[in-house]
Amino acid sequence: MDCLFCEIIKGNIPSSKVYEDEYVYAFRDINPQAPVHILVVPKVHISSADEINAENSVYVAKIFEVIPEIAKNESLGGGYRVITNCGADACQSVKHLHFHILGGAQLIEKMG
Ligand code: 5GP
Ligand code: ZN
Repeated sequence: MDCLFCEIIKGNIPSSKVYEDEYVYAFRDINPQAPVHILVVPKVHISSADEINAENSVYVAKIFEVIPEIAKNESLGGGYRVITNCGADACQSVKHLHFHILGGAQLIEKMG
């Protein structure tokens, strides 16, 4: 199975890493939509939020434990947005679960 983010996690495709542990990999988005735009992904292949279940939800819990650490390191004390796009209607383009952290400026109110 060809998965861009699995290849990034393995180091086969370069990325600008901001955090890594046993469960979580985080790196800068190649096409940032805010001054800080980081993608946080599980180190196992979960294709979207729709595939989270009791067996793999520990990875999601670990991601959400790490997000405040990343936010602190990135000086996002003013606030930030965490988004996951799930499926075609949400324009998910990479089919490996990822949470966008967006911040570093006042974000627009509209999300949809
Ligand atoms: P989605 O649209 O699936 O929610 O988000 C996918 C994100 O991955 C996009 O924001 C896009 O810019 C980012 N992206 C796509 N390819 C690469 C890549 O090769 N490297 C990095 N760092 N980000 C990527
Ligand atoms: Zn993957």
